[in-house]
Amino acid sequence: MAVVYLDNNATTRVDRQVVQAMLPFFTESFGNASSTHDYGAAVAPALKEARKQVQALLGAEFDHEVVFTSGGTESDTTAIFSALEASPERNEIVASAVEHPAVLNVCQTLERTGRAKVHYIGVDAQGDLDIDAYRAALSDKTALVSIMWANNETGKIFPVPELAAEAKAVGAMFHTDAVQAFGKIDMALKGAAIDLLSLSGHKIHGPKGIGALYVKKGVKFSPLFRGGKQERGRRAGTENVPGIVGLGLAADIARQNLAADHARIKGLRDRLESGLLAAIPLARINGGGDSRLPNTCNISFDYADGEAVLHKLDRAGVAASSGSACASGSMEPSHVLRALNIPPYALQGAIRFSLSRESTEDDISQVLATLPEIVAATREKSPLWAEVRSSQVA
Ligand code: PLP
Repeated sequence: MAVVYLDNNATTRVDRQVVQAMLPFFTESFGNASSTHDYGAAVAPALKEARKQVQALLGAEFDHEVVFTSGGTESDTTAIFSALEASPERNEIVASAVEHPAVLNVCQTLERTGRAKVHYIGVDAQGDLDIDAYRAALSDKTALVSIMWANNETGKIFPVPELAAEAKAVGAMFHTDAVQAFGKIDMALKGAAIDLLSLSGHKIHGPKGIGALYVKKGVKFSPLFRGGKQERGRRAGTENVPGIVGLGLAADIARQNLAADHARIKGLRDRLESGLLAAIPLARINGGGDSRLPNTCNISFDYADGEAVLHKLDRAGVAASSGSACASGSMEPSHVLRALNIPPYALQGAIRFSLSRESTEDDISQVLATLPEIVAATREKSPLWAEVRSSQVA
């Protein structure tokens, strides 16, 4: 069992205070928020409080701009379908090529069924968006732009407020998948041209199966789930009250600690990166630079088999990831790293470490103490590595 958990972009441990805050809503205060009796009335203030807590972390203007959903995937799907319905005279979508499958797979389905034409905007070797291609793709046919705020694999941050302003200029709606950015960077949505934003609880030490879609006031909205009148008719289905309470408190804790956590976690991540680059030859940071989440390090060890490295790390007590958790299990190189045009001998040796507020100096020391030997042992098994070494010696 790993003792050093560095896979926080996959999911985080629920904060104990969050668990405590949720518990009464399973037992004493179990009411349905729509009920008119006291049991229903007892949960209404908790929902309101949670909505305000999420609003505060987003820096949004109104609490009713927050619509609770079952998580990032539902929010992404809702945003895309809603935007297409809102602009029937437009049928094009502009998305980045490195979106999470929660956006990409919806786009691909819409293309396959002939409902939309999708422009996928590439990135350069640093993971930065091709802004010229972005501008060229925008037109009066664009119904929606969906560009993530931060990438789950590399941590790369896109200039979302500026991209949103450009989308607005052609009359398109702008959605951002902010599942990884929420709670890690300042958002200040009030005044931004962002119409729709997806977030999720389990990436910020909140529970799984809860998230929200931010819908800017005045934006034309079409619900994905139709039924009851919950969430002002924007998301039918009995509210997940304990989940919503947990998401609210997790957002509140993240907001109060945002600056301090950012600085401390970035310090740990930078120590990890500089230590690994110094200790392991032919190592490279994928999608590096400053415009990056403070907690994410995606690093390749040329000619090493990433899956074998991960396995050995796991046995040494360190949990990390070879790419997006959602894609693990398949040996296909990640679409994100492929979009960065990384050479094949580096693609298969990519490892993602993602830290959280629970990460410690000792965690980093343990990786630095174990990984160089693991990479060296793994490379010994690669015929390509033997060739590289012999050409270096010759
Ligand atoms: N979008 C991004 C960028 C993610 O990293 C994830 C989860 O890994 C999702 C969407 C899906 O969120 P959820 O697990 O809440 O459905």
